[in-house]
Amino acid sequence: MALLEVRGLVKRFGGNTAVDDIGFDLHEGELLALIGPNGAGKSTTFNMVGGQLPATRGSVKLQGTELLGMPSRKIARLGVGRSFQIAATFPSLTVLENVQTALIAHRRKVYSFWRSARDLYVQEARALLQQVGMSEQATRPCKELAYGDVKRVELAMSLAGSPRLLLMDEPTAGMAPAERNALVGLVKKLVRERNMAVLFTEHSMDVVFAYADRVIVLARGQLIAQGSVEEVRRHPKVQEVYFGT
Ligand code: ADP
Ligand code: MG
Repeated sequence: MALLEVRGLVKRFGGNTAVDDIGFDLHEGELLALIGPNGAGKSTTFNMVGGQLPATRGSVKLQGTELLGMPSRKIARLGVGRSFQIAATFPSLTVLENVQTALIAHRRKVYSFWRSARDLYVQEARALLQQVGMSEQATRPCKELAYGDVKRVELAMSLAGSPRLLLMDEPTAGMAPAERNALVGLVKKLVRERNMAVLFTEHSMDVVFAYADRVIVLARGQLIAQGSVEEVRRHPKVQEVYFGT
């Protein structure tokens, strides 16, 4: 069974159909790219899956459980993480403290008064920092970090909720090409190691073709192609939309 099953998903804003009857599956261990020109309906799709926006109709099932109609908090609790949203870092806290904060927020435990917040989830926070390659910067305040490293901390914070599915809408926005490759490469490694699934959008076709396991292409709300990188790259409609041939 697929981890996520999207069927007949539609979103209309007045007379404008932003997402027009799309359907796709997402499996554990898979990095799935959702691509398409500006205004194609990518963010709208993310917002419906994450519960930030009600769908006009359709179905989004997480291991058989219908998500449409659920509040976003509940969807998050079922294991659907939305990266870089709750995950904004506190600039004056250290890298480690930021990840501890995310763990506290996700676990929603009332901590005991004889134990300082400073000691909470230190081991787990360190383990997450190791996974994103930020162990050596653990005691630095986030405001001193390079942009690409802030994104790594944010990724660790997203993982603090142990998501089964992580939704990443343009995670590499504002990054240089080398940083983009490094971040998406890291996400791919984590998808494999944790057997999670990631749905992401990315403007750079080089990055998509280098790392995605499968690709879905939207144009004007419609799903025009899906398949492996090779299949999508060769697809005539994709050629038309992206390369004007
Ligand atoms: P993408 O993320 O692929 O660039 P979006 O999902 O943001 O595209 O937008 C898809 C279409 O839906 C666009 O035509 C956009 O103008 C429209 N749209 C998005 N959000 C809203 C909204 N809140 N109200 C009205 N129209 C919207
Ligand atoms: Mg968008």
